[in-house]
Amino acid sequence: MQTNFTEAQLADPDTAASEKILRACVHCGFCTATCPTYVLLGDELDSPRGRIYLIKDMLENNRPATEKVVKHVDRCLSCLSCMTTCPSGVNYMHLVDHARQHIEKTYRRPWPDRAMRRLLGLVLPRPMLFRLALQGAVLGRPFASVLPKQLRTLLNLAPARVPKPSPADRAQVFPAQGERTRRVALLTGCAQRVLAPHINEASIRLLTRHGVEVVVAEGAGCCGALTHHMGQEGDYARRNIAAWIDEMTKPGGLDAIVINTSGCGTTVKDYGFMFRNDPILAEPAAKISTIARDISELMSEIGLHPPVEPTGQRIAYHSACSLQHGQQVRTQPKQLLQQAGFDVADIPEGHLCCGSAGTYNLLQPEIATRLRDRKIENIAKTGAILVAAGNIGCITQIASGCDLPVVHTVELLDWATGGPKPRAIEGRT
Ligand code: SF4
Ligand code: SF4
Repeated sequence: MQTNFTEAQLADPDTAASEKILRACVHCGFCTATCPTYVLLGDELDSPRGRIYLIKDMLENNRPATEKVVKHVDRCLSCLSCMTTCPSGVNYMHLVDHARQHIEKTYRRPWPDRAMRRLLGLVLPRPMLFRLALQGAVLGRPFASVLPKQLRTLLNLAPARVPKPSPADRAQVFPAQGERTRRVALLTGCAQRVLAPHINEASIRLLTRHGVEVVVAEGAGCCGALTHHMGQEGDYARRNIAAWIDEMTKPGGLDAIVINTSGCGTTVKDYGFMFRNDPILAEPAAKISTIARDISELMSEIGLHPPVEPTGQRIAYHSACSLQHGQQVRTQPKQLLQQAGFDVADIPEGHLCCGSAGTYNLLQPEIATRLRDRKIENIAKTGAILVAAGNIGCITQIASGCDLPVVHTVELLDWATGGPKPRAIEGRT
């Protein structure tokens, strides 16, 4: 695609990066067929190609974002399905991230929207605040019908009971069982540890059982994805980089940063790009990104122990967009589940997002619900009795409308190799 940025514009490193991305696009439109919003809405401006044109026009002319641009960029899930499909290697993720920052700087949203985004950016990354908000949501549920639409969505997605905090999430070291083969830092994250603390517990059991020493680093927390994708600034990534670099200097160092929430994994793997122009953090951030691994990638490298539990259940494996498109991790989780003895079914239209997409299901509830219902219809076609996924956002989103239990992949791997039965299927045959 031809671009017309001035020299002065290209002096800005973000604009220079976006210009390179725009030039790679040959407007072939292959990406439209796999874009969930285009599939649902059929509007070219809700396709990757349409959004690329809107973003190009906005950045090239250095215009403040318009209502039209904001509408169509906001509707983008950042599912990155378009990046998997694109034959020209267009890095849509970096382009839309830049567009979102430009929107936040130049566009004043209506106040309810502003308030909601501020609230989400403030609460979700802070486990204590998020837990309090969920407890409030449990009490507020009877009044849901009189609340504004977006708050209603929040209440509907809140669990019926808020789990207690897990001691596993505190900074500490979990020694490997048997001979130590690796030392890794586990990202215990923010929203996941509040909604489903048993996922980190299962991850720690699984890793230590396989000879891995697991460190929960002091000072590490939210990866920064939730605020980053809303175009907001925050120092979450900086704190994580500092915490993990400090761990690297300790005896044994770090062989990997392990992430069990794939939405966070995509962001941590992108720290190198995010800080590429930071004179202090560029090098450590790149180092962190290089050793970041989804837990399924690491377990694949290590090799799963033979199952000790007679499994064999038919499972629908939902491949989170952040894992299949953001990190190109497709085969490892399925292979691990098969090695653990499960009968793994592919979900039809598996490339389409379930509508979770970070805060998307809270900010765009209509589209998110349509995508969720479509996903659940496709899951039903597999004949599975439970659903596995590697991302808490997808787990919460699918579970909010699905009769089948929805569990994290690591809970099943942990169970099969000697851990407890996942809570969601306790008491079921
Ligand atoms: S598939 Fe790639 S090159 Fe083709 S229009 Fe989409 S982004 Fe551009
Ligand atoms: S990230 Fe997903 S929703 Fe956004 S343009 Fe690409 S395919 Fe469409």
